[in-house]
Amino acid sequence: MNKNVETFIGCDSNYEESKIVLFGAPFDSTTSFRPGARFGSSAIRHESFGIETYSPYQDKDLTDLKVFDCGDLELCFGSPEAALKDIEEQARKIVNDGKLPIMLGGEHLVTFAAVKAVFEKYPKMHIIHFDAHADLRDDYLGAKLSHACVIRRCYELVGDGRIHQFCIRSGDREEFRFADEHTDMHKFDFDGLTELATELKSDNLPVYFTIDLDCLDPSVFCGTGTPEAGGVNFKELLNAILEVSKTNIVGADLNELAPMLDISGASTAVACKVLRELILSINT
Ligand code: MN
Ligand code: MN
Repeated sequence: MNKNVETFIGCDSNYEESKIVLFGAPFDSTTSFRPGARFGSSAIRHESFGIETYSPYQDKDLTDLKVFDCGDLELCFGSPEAALKDIEEQARKIVNDGKLPIMLGGEHLVTFAAVKAVFEKYPKMHIIHFDAHADLRDDYLGAKLSHACVIRRCYELVGDGRIHQFCIRSGDREEFRFADEHTDMHKFDFDGLTELATELKSDNLPVYFTIDLDCLDPSVFCGTGTPEAGGVNFKELLNAILEVSKTNIVGADLNELAPMLDISGASTAVACKVLRELILSINT
């Protein structure tokens, strides 16, 4: 008899033997439009049994790896500060144990906490950011801790030239001006990613990889709080993940799936496949 413990498919190794650790950060209290991302991580785990552990793209199988899934954190929805503190502690424990954290959101704000913890261990860290939105606002309606400001907060940690943004197609004029000065922003698609990955790899720089799934076109992925037309397709995202995997990834996350906003379940299935390919692509 086995206890009913649900993990992402094929990720049922124990903590000690695992190099990669998955955890959920089911928080969505600062979502600016349609909420629901708090259900993202549990939906990914549950619906993962609809896909295979084997990737024909990479000829790799999740069952060949040691991955531990420690489930969802229990977070305080009423306080972003408290939620971020708990996420940061979780990520810090994982990196300090010499393992690689992959966090499942939640809204994008959760990335700030994981980035903080990973940056502490890897002060030369760069961030690769896939998103429809720049997320560079200084504040959103007065709130500094908002998913619309998450990359700006990360910028305040890591500084100029360390944030590489791709697929960006939405933001206010100020955000794009800020990006001109301070970040390496690639609008609309993945142009320039191959060159960047080659550069980061040759300098062996540590990379935190954050994927806001709304970088995908809403025709592929509509189950998200702020869908934005003009995005990439699954294959383009997959190829981009494979490019990033050539670098020294030290932490990663997937965020902004709001499963109930796509009752067909297709968006959750897409997120599961993105996660499988991400896990399989990382060299540990
Ligand atoms: Mn975002
Ligand atoms: Mn976004």
